[in-house]
Amino acid sequence: MGRDDTERARLLYHTYMKLRLALPITLIGLLAPTVAAAEWVERVEDGIMGTRISVELWADDPAKGRAAIDAVLAEMRRVDEAMSTYKPTSELSKVNAQAAQAAVKISPELLDLLATALDYSRVTDGAFDITYASVGYLYDYRKRVHPGEAQIKAALPGVNYRHVVLDKAQHTVRFTQPGVRIDLGGIGKGHSVDRGIAILQGRGVQHALVTAGGDSRIIGDRFGHPWVIGIRHPDRKEEVIARIPLEDAALSTSGDYERYFDEGGVRYHHIIDPGTGHSASKVRSATIIGPTATCTDGLSKTAFVLGPERALEIYNRLDDIDAVLVTPDGRVLYTKGLEAPSQ
Ligand code: ADP
Ligand code: MG
Repeated sequence: MGRDDTERARLLYHTYMKLRLALPITLIGLLAPTVAAAEWVERVEDGIMGTRISVELWADDPAKGRAAIDAVLAEMRRVDEAMSTYKPTSELSKVNAQAAQAAVKISPELLDLLATALDYSRVTDGAFDITYASVGYLYDYRKRVHPGEAQIKAALPGVNYRHVVLDKAQHTVRFTQPGVRIDLGGIGKGHSVDRGIAILQGRGVQHALVTAGGDSRIIGDRFGHPWVIGIRHPDRKEEVIARIPLEDAALSTSGDYERYFDEGGVRYHHIIDPGTGHSASKVRSATIIGPTATCTDGLSKTAFVLGPERALEIYNRLDDIDAVLVTPDGRVLYTKGLEAPSQ
């Protein structure tokens, strides 16, 4: 953290202070009668959706706070059961097995999320595309497996979000051709974070941070101060390249260092360019700030596929969205909302 970074953090903070819809609630007076028992309650859990979940909240009553965290984790397990492609019994696996043959009846929740995913495909000129999985399934990053050119060529016709047709009246999804697979790995964690936040809000929680892998959302502030979320350096894990102060917002970071292996000078990582079937490498990392985690998750893959310039154009066009991108040559680029005012 050099002086410039500190200066930028301050500017970012002021931007957010300006953008905030509501003034921070001054809780000191309100909580006075119970303040002795109130405390931050925190839990970190590995394994749900194949990632690390953490929930931190301010609880007037710590037992209620712990129960609220239990409810968030149970909700995330439920979402994972329905939407994982790793679970053969999931609703999503059933869709992948059957939707090329006939329309498959699905839950309102899955229908909504698929509709949102298709919206993000349109907004990002097809960079975000849940049918990436039609080739994506040929990669296994843990086993260092990647498809050859002939395999990619054979699978690529299955990649196109237009192959996924929803019928909102009948609550069905169908694929217009064989060879199509969908995977919600690029939006499901954001969705589950939003579900977790909804549960906390339903229980009256006013200060909380919920994180699933690279996707986070915040309720409120940290008593007059924003929550500060660091964006890590793509190669040096411990090094923070920017700190983002946030209140009542979501933030998602995608990076080529999350799930990958290197072979013959090529990095094979988990974000796939729907146009080529190869890993998309036009940025090293992308952090999106926005109102919900479903939205920030749905937008964080775009810059890898379209490159920083086209992605920034899209992000700048969208209301309530900001972004911080790290390019392959180490530059850090910001959307207009986060830029320092010109001197
Ligand atoms: P995390 O899993 O930590 O939230 P990301 O938000 O960066 O990481 O999402 C990466 C995941 O997105 C991949 O593992 C894969 O499931 C999915 N994905 C990869 N490429 C695309 C794409 N072009 N469009 C939509 N989803 C994608
Ligand atoms: Mg994500």
